[in-house]
Amino acid sequence: MKKEPVKVREADPETRIGNFEEVVKGYCEEEALAEASRCLQCANPLCTGGCPVGIDIKKFIYHITQKDYRAAYLTVREKNNFPSICGRVCPAEYQCRKSCVFTKKGSPFASEQAINIHFLERFVGDYGKDNNLDVPEEKDGELSGLKVAVVGSGPAGLCCAGELARKGVKVDIFESLHKTGGVLRYGIPPFRLPWDVLDSEVNYLKKLGVNFITNFLVGKAKTVKELFEEGYSNVFLGLGAGVPSFLKIKGENLCNIYSVNEFLTRVNLMSAYKFPEFHTPVNIGRNVLIVGGGNTAMDAARVALRLQKINGFRPNTTVIYRRTEVEMPARRLEIEHAKEEGVKFEFLVQPKEFTGDQRGFVRKMLCLKSKLGEPDSSGRRRPVIIEGSEFELDCDMCVIAVGLKANQILINATPELKTDKNSDLVVDPETMESSVKGVYAGGDIVGGEGTVIEAMGMAKKAARSIIYNT
Ligand SMILES: Cc1cc2nc3c(=O)[nH]c(=O)nc-3n(C[C@H](O)[C@H](O)[C@H](O)COP(=O)(O)OP(=O)(O)OC[C@H]3O[C@@H](n4cnc5c(N)ncnc54)[C@H](O)[C@@H]3O)c2cc1C
Repeated sequence: MKKEPVKVREADPETRIGNFEEVVKGYCEEEALAEASRCLQCANPLCTGGCPVGIDIKKFIYHITQKDYRAAYLTVREKNNFPSICGRVCPAEYQCRKSCVFTKKGSPFASEQAINIHFLERFVGDYGKDNNLDVPEEKDGELSGLKVAVVGSGPAGLCCAGELARKGVKVDIFESLHKTGGVLRYGIPPFRLPWDVLDSEVNYLKKLGVNFITNFLVGKAKTVKELFEEGYSNVFLGLGAGVPSFLKIKGENLCNIYSVNEFLTRVNLMSAYKFPEFHTPVNIGRNVLIVGGGNTAMDAARVALRLQKINGFRPNTTVIYRRTEVEMPARRLEIEHAKEEGVKFEFLVQPKEFTGDQRGFVRKMLCLKSKLGEPDSSGRRRPVIIEGSEFELDCDMCVIAVGLKANQILINATPELKTDKNSDLVVDPETMESSVKGVYAGGDIVGGEGTVIEAMGMAKKAARSIIYNT
């Protein structure tokens, strides 16, 4: 008889919007065993091909069925440095689960029947974390003379540093912010990725000897050239995509219109939701509009809704998206969670203009309706404006979440670095080496906004090149 997928436990929507605690509770042992027992252990498993770092999924799930969680953990860690993180944030429905034999061919994302590989990965990662299972080091004496500067402490930088340090390479990570983790800290809210999960990965790297230097902007405080002059043998650039895109429409600079970076950074990194305990308040609207359809938009909407609830306002947050739900790039789980929590959606709608009051605060968003046309370069159907379809929405706060670009500070200070038409770094895809010898790059700074696991995949490749090419 076909076994049904094991549902993951979650905090109930009414309670969870009153706090920033983790929503998805994960599998307990019994649930993990039941879910793992659904895996058919295919002779020719396709799931591994769907994982950007190629985890041996069949093998780690088999180890779970045998209750050999240590072996399951080590199998995952062979390819993935941060299973507890990826088990929480990977868009598995577009990756490993989409390739599961239980997903129908041609589906845009995984079917519900697909094995919940990400929840099993999280179970295994948390088991390793809770039981202090360290990954074996493979120190190589010859590499101990290498000293690498990693710029940026997001998943790309952390992953590259871990790969190098495990081999005995000395690594210093330079981070411009006062805290480590990149988007994992300042972008993704703690109700999706609790800080202790990230901290335990950072602490593991510290145990391996990785040195973290925060509040240090490479390109200003020191140039890449100066890092080499100081004795670093290689530099890895994991700069991310931290600069927000805007709509470029009238009224966009009215007060209470935030870029998604500013909004999420204030709340997550600066703990604005704990005001007055933390002295960094953020404005809270009664009619909040979020523009966009990606993970950043979902995070902003769910954060805004929580701020409304915590501050005693009626939760009233609406996402404005110019295509339909099918084309939304956000993880399916985040869309479902946002809906359960009461976030409203206006599909096939785009902003045309903002209007404000005499004090310069936003009051309305003038919108246009759209319909779907032919597919564009992203493969998704293009939104086409319907003439004469203008209408207004009340809006006393808005968050613009329509894409992120690379920060150019370091790139401008290093003119030898080649960039593409989007101002992202150009690298050799085989080695991840940039146009400057000894300088490697990976993550969102290469190819634009991606995912955590893709950033890690590139970082691993770069680390391998540094180890074997140097
Ligand atoms: C709000 C949000 C939600 C997301 N949700 C998901 C999700 O659920 N699942 C998923 O897979 N992906 C998600 N993503 C995408 C994912 O987080 C990114 O693809 C990933 O973080 C990229 O990693 P990175 O290391 O390249 O860059 P980042 O995480 O951006 O880290 C770059 C780091 O480099 C530092 N830096 C930049 N320039 C310098 C410099 N000159 N000197 C020193 N330090 C510097 C920055 O301060 C930053 O800390 C999300 C992104 C956002 C913004």
